[in-house]
Amino acid sequence: MNKPSDIKQTVPMWVNGRHQDAQTTRFGNVTNPATGMVVRQVPFCNDADIDSAVQAAKAAFPAWRRTPALRRARILMRYRELVEKHRDELAQLVTEEHGKTVVDAAGSVQRGLEVVEFAMGIPHLMKGEVSEEVGTDVDTHSLREPLGVCAGITPFNFPAMVPMWMYPVAIACGNTFVLKPSEKVPSTAMRLAELFKEAGLPDGVLNIVHGDKQAVDAILAHPDIRAVSFVGSTPIAKYIYETCAKHGKRVQALGGAKNHAVVLPDADLDFTADALIGAGYGSAGERCMAISAIVAVGDVGDALVAKLSERAAKLKIGPGIAKDMDMGPLVTAEHRAKVAAYVDKGVAEGAKLVLDGRNFKAAGAEQGFFLGASLFDDVQPDMTIYKDEIFGPVLGVVRVKTLDDAIKLINANPYANGTAVFTRSGGAARKFERDIEVGMVGINVPIPVPVAFFSFGGWRGSLFGDTHMHGMEGVRFYTRAKVVTTRWPDANALPTGFHMPTLG
Ligand code: NAD
Repeated sequence: MNKPSDIKQTVPMWVNGRHQDAQTTRFGNVTNPATGMVVRQVPFCNDADIDSAVQAAKAAFPAWRRTPALRRARILMRYRELVEKHRDELAQLVTEEHGKTVVDAAGSVQRGLEVVEFAMGIPHLMKGEVSEEVGTDVDTHSLREPLGVCAGITPFNFPAMVPMWMYPVAIACGNTFVLKPSEKVPSTAMRLAELFKEAGLPDGVLNIVHGDKQAVDAILAHPDIRAVSFVGSTPIAKYIYETCAKHGKRVQALGGAKNHAVVLPDADLDFTADALIGAGYGSAGERCMAISAIVAVGDVGDALVAKLSERAAKLKIGPGIAKDMDMGPLVTAEHRAKVAAYVDKGVAEGAKLVLDGRNFKAAGAEQGFFLGASLFDDVQPDMTIYKDEIFGPVLGVVRVKTLDDAIKLINANPYANGTAVFTRSGGAARKFERDIEVGMVGINVPIPVPVAFFSFGGWRGSLFGDTHMHGMEGVRFYTRAKVVTTRWPDANALPTGFHMPTLG
């Protein structure tokens, strides 16, 4: 790692449509995981820094909420064009700070862009309902209004896409926004904010702060923030949910995951193995929808494990900016060490290590935070590698006798983000779809991330709150309903009385 004196750049905040230096005296390092070098520093914002961003958002709110939805949508349309034009540049920023391959990074920008495309429909999405003559000469209509200043707190693993699950919808609805991206990957969100200004977004509508727990706590306690969207690990999601509730804020807090893929004996095993390799090791397993537990049903285990290990051994692993890589490094040295320790633990607890990625070295990038692909067989549900979210390139195969056993295992897991079944049987797939208690389900689709016009979110320990992200649930989260009952009295109107009105 380089010396702090080598570091030229400190990431600024983005407040009121321009860069702003933080007042804090606390800073953290941002590393390039492929080289192990510190590339820039990030401020850990203090309460005054957070307040300056919230005040900018608060001041921008009255004019923004009065801006016609069609005009807000047109700014999003221009933003869509700009993000697309700069997709490669954004992808390179993602790769530089996160490590994933640049092709994967570009795909994640594209998935974020799809939320912008969804939010462009906001004039239609925010339409209310009308009923005339709910009583004699009385009409009722409902409308959805923005909340005010909303905040987003996001994880390291999708520097563009996860923030884009939040702020495009919130802003389209007429809210203003304060985003705190992960302190490990702060730069992509900054660039996205600059592009939004270029698209015509008024100053103060989107603001960016940086930092750790102190910045987050300042957001959670700030009296001018109405709603908080969070994506990250389960313990922090639970903390965010409870703290927001204490402060009277609306909250949606998406947590961690342990995603199972069930493979039935009738599945096309080559197709399934290809899908599982991408879903398990893509982005070095650092995806909340990554498959980490494979549930082999009946006698499919031996053939499946053979196909998985053959493919996993051939993965091309190296710097994400290099051509044709399947997998890049882990995000930090600490995270790499944590994932490697899980492999140690799996061996110690008696799982069968079919493929060991611990000693992998990327040629020419020896200082990077690389791990090879690891594959375990005979994983038992009481083992740590089954119970914990590893968030790295480690796949574990659990063997069960029947589809019912597989469903029981998954439904007993504390996480419930995504799951998938691989089969040729429509009946088995339908049973799985009905009986499984998980928020997002794939049938022969390993990573069933819903498209932007549906909503994204898990169940149980993978989501605290009631609403999922984007789609109509996103619109509902960032708006509140008002119902208006109207009567225009005329000379014949009945006088109002003291009894409960029954309009009919
Ligand atoms: P994390 O929980 O460590 O951090 C997420 C955010 O919370 C960051 O902005 C961080 O600064 C902040 N934070 C960290 N510690 C905090 C604390 N003690 N108090 C207050 N705020 C704190 O998560 P991560 O390591 O950045 O991301 C990986 C996790 O995110 C995994 O568990 C993954 O499954 C999860 N994730 C979930 C989804 C989903 O949709 N459910 C999507 C992406 C990632």
